[in-house]
Amino acid sequence: MDELHNQSVAELAALLKSKKVSAVEVATRFLARLGGNPHNAFLDIHSEVTLAQARESDAKLAAGTAGPLEGVPIAHKDVFVTKDFVTTAGSKILTGYRSPFDATVVARLRQAGMVTLGKLNCDEFAMGSANENSAYGVVSNPWNTAHVPGGSSGGSAAAVAARLTPAATGTDTGGSIRQPAAFCGITGIKPTYGRASRYGMVAYASSLDQAGPMARSAEDCALLLTAMCGSDLDRDSTSLDVATEDFSAGLGQSLKGLRVGVPQEFFGEGLAADVRRAIDAALAQLQAQGATLVPIALPRTELSIPVYYIIAPAEASSNLSRFDGVKFGHRAADFADLTDMYKKSRAQGFGQEVKRRIMTGAYVLSHGYYEAYYLQAQKIRRMIADDFQSAFAQCDVIAGPVAPTTAWKLGDKSEDPVASYLADIFTLPASLAGLPCMSLPVGLGEGGMPVGLQLIGNYLQEAKLLNVAHQFQLATGHHQQQPGAAA
Ligand code: GLN
Repeated sequence: MDELHNQSVAELAALLKSKKVSAVEVATRFLARLGGNPHNAFLDIHSEVTLAQARESDAKLAAGTAGPLEGVPIAHKDVFVTKDFVTTAGSKILTGYRSPFDATVVARLRQAGMVTLGKLNCDEFAMGSANENSAYGVVSNPWNTAHVPGGSSGGSAAAVAARLTPAATGTDTGGSIRQPAAFCGITGIKPTYGRASRYGMVAYASSLDQAGPMARSAEDCALLLTAMCGSDLDRDSTSLDVATEDFSAGLGQSLKGLRVGVPQEFFGEGLAADVRRAIDAALAQLQAQGATLVPIALPRTELSIPVYYIIAPAEASSNLSRFDGVKFGHRAADFADLTDMYKKSRAQGFGQEVKRRIMTGAYVLSHGYYEAYYLQAQKIRRMIADDFQSAFAQCDVIAGPVAPTTAWKLGDKSEDPVASYLADIFTLPASLAGLPCMSLPVGLGEGGMPVGLQLIGNYLQEAKLLNVAHQFQLATGHHQQQPGAAA
């Protein structure tokens, strides 16, 4: 048997169920790997909490009352609130914050039996594409520690890639599951907006935020997504009222006859040659497995950048107004009056990128600019969603790159926020439309850095995406490549 930390979620679940290992043994093995906090991926660990959960899991396994993922470890992006671990959302303003409750997604995964290893580093309030905006330091990419892991779920992606956890949660507002998954050579899926509850997720841009799993394979993501999703209308009014689905059930379908839409706008000048080579090879592989490639158009792809960087900051400026030094987190020590207390607490607590977004958001919503920016952006957002519906008249899934390049070097874009916004071009359209989308590893580019293929499906078609990814992963070994191993 491979070492425990190399086992997949599916394999660990089976080993635990057949009592070949105990949940305490598994948890102990993973906790031992977290010593020294490799890649600065974790922000909070409490081994006694983890071991207590593992003991509970062992009791359930012994009693025959185990959940489907009983005893399998997971770690959560630090934007999911947790009772037993600190939640900071990567921000100084929430240093030491303890939530009185668990986010629905966290609670559901625990209900399925998963044992929490801790909380994962991320960009402050999930704003970023490199994990360089965390108040708790950057995360390094396990494939090359001089490179970024992607963002904002950089801790999640790095931890899974480095085998510090078999699975992690992430959140994706404009690409934060897909892009770090691509940069770290793992698999991640953002479901249809509303599939997973946002209750207990620290809000960034509420009309876009969505939770999803990150793991090494589509098979594992299907298991995790099944446990995470489900209607939660009492607590999240945008939760979809659809039945829970077993996403593993549809993984055996052949790709014969599958129509894969290839948007020409995703293959323009800005696409790096090494990424293009790996994506072209992946598309050829899908064809070899029986799919047909259909050229499609997503004509407003470029507009998704200004549209997203108006709407997301607008919503953020409103969501983040709750951090005022009164109800949550940091309060300045010295202040003259109430207004001064607000100003100082927020000035001290928020980082630079968060302040930039709040200011942009307040500006585009202000009287006199609202119609010129925010309202226009909303109109174009609708057109972007319509473009996808026209495309899905011709194809079953859409495929293309996740990002124009592989993971860049630490520091390369940190002084130039616009350069980092531009790198989100291929992930933003599906986010704005609220469509399910995923990233899967399809080989290595220059310098041995991973390349991710993006798959986008129509609403509620997660099972179709996961099947395509799973069939691809059965036929190729890309998802099994490991950092540090020979290319
Ligand atoms: N890079 C994008 C942003 O900074 C997306 C982040 C995300 O999906 N959370 O807004």
